[in-house]
Amino acid sequence: LNLRNHNLSDKINALPQKVKNLLVEAGRIADDEGLSVYVVGGFVRDIILGVENLDIDIVVEGDALRFSEKLADYYCAHLTKHDRFGTAVVVLEDDFKIDVVTARKEYYEYPASLPVIEGGTIKDDLFRRDFTINSMAIKLNKSGFGNIVDFYGGRRDLQMGLIRILYNLSFVEDPTRVFRAIRFEQRYDFRMEEKTEEFAIKAIESGILGKVSHERINFELFSMLKESNIPAILERMEQLHILKKVYPQIMLTNDLKKVLRNAEEDFAYFSEKLNHPESPDRTLLYLLILHSNMDHENAAKSSENMRLTKEYKEEILKLIEVRDRVLSNLSGNVDISYYDVYNELKGLSIEILLVLCMISGEKKVINRIILYINNLKNIKTYISGKDLRDLGVKPGPEYKLLLEEVLAAKLNGSLQTYKDELEFLKRIISKENN
Ligand code: ATP
Repeated sequence: LNLRNHNLSDKINALPQKVKNLLVEAGRIADDEGLSVYVVGGFVRDIILGVENLDIDIVVEGDALRFSEKLADYYCAHLTKHDRFGTAVVVLEDDFKIDVVTARKEYYEYPASLPVIEGGTIKDDLFRRDFTINSMAIKLNKSGFGNIVDFYGGRRDLQMGLIRILYNLSFVEDPTRVFRAIRFEQRYDFRMEEKTEEFAIKAIESGILGKVSHERINFELFSMLKESNIPAILERMEQLHILKKVYPQIMLTNDLKKVLRNAEEDFAYFSEKLNHPESPDRTLLYLLILHSNMDHENAAKSSENMRLTKEYKEEILKLIEVRDRVLSNLSGNVDISYYDVYNELKGLSIEILLVLCMISGEKKVINRIILYINNLKNIKTYISGKDLRDLGVKPGPEYKLLLEEVLAAKLNGSLQTYKDELEFLKRIISKENN
């Protein structure tokens, strides 16, 4: 990181051609309209760090809506305008998205409220941001193209690995910044600057997180679950006493921490071992792990508190319902047939199966679950109700029992072909008739 380099044209030149052209065109259009434009925020942070980030946020000093219309015209792109906020989203043909906002000044009328917004300069706009490392801009107009705008010491903090708020009341005005601070800390292996951490702790202790809506907190949770370092994020949340406040049912016991720390490696191991067509839903996997040591009541409360979708809730409660039974019935001390393994696990999602492996940690259980996924799960009998009818069995509840018996024999390995199944079926029917 070279702090003396005030111009990032060379780094912009190294971006994918499409992105580079877009930034140049944005500058040209702004010149034609007599406006100043900048790309800001995470994109600037990451270009300096050398991390790929193609989320383009553009700030216009002046009329962002007029600018966005010209940009959309030039690219024949789809444009959505929010007149009231002076913001717009331009979506190119290939779904590439550019956010455009009017430079603005923000102030908060009371803690944790939504801000009041007025038009402002780029300097005002950067001041309303969360941390110094996210408060930089790059100029796009031809004159000064690539120049860094860094009023608040963003590059210094990037170099020192520090997350620093821009003003003392920052966390009080927007407590969700506490979550963001932790996310960036763990993502880049940075730490909060000393005063920033003190303000974060004070804000948390004051109970202000209780004033933030569930929706906003859950948005932060889901952003966290997309990061690669989830265990470190959760442990930091615990250390700062946030976890207890916002998700009181989550118990980060040593066992759970161990499961979390091994999770990524385990996912990689299992995806290699498993013949499963779809890759598991990673967010669901982590939600299941986080609930895996709860009882039914707490799991229900927690998934309600997280406002999870019906599908996610059902998966979590299913895991709790089957957990103890499956882990004890599949353990090494129990002698069971393939059919029994099949019956223990049938109907469970791939995510639940993986999490059962992870929380069990017992070789025998894991092997039985892998066997189920790879070899047993998709086994079906060739024979059907039609064969039963042809053999003269009267339709009724017996059908299901007979077919189940054939399936059991097949799973246990004694039947291969359609003919084998039919012979077997005939034998059991005649045995029953005698
Ligand atoms: P990521 O890489 O996680 O997408 P990002 O910094 O691009 O990180 P966004 O949530 O897309 O994150 O936000 C874009 C920019 O908007 C940030 O860089 C920051 O300048 C500003 N911002 C986002 N959330 C806040 C907030 N709660 N308070 C102040 N500024 C914010």
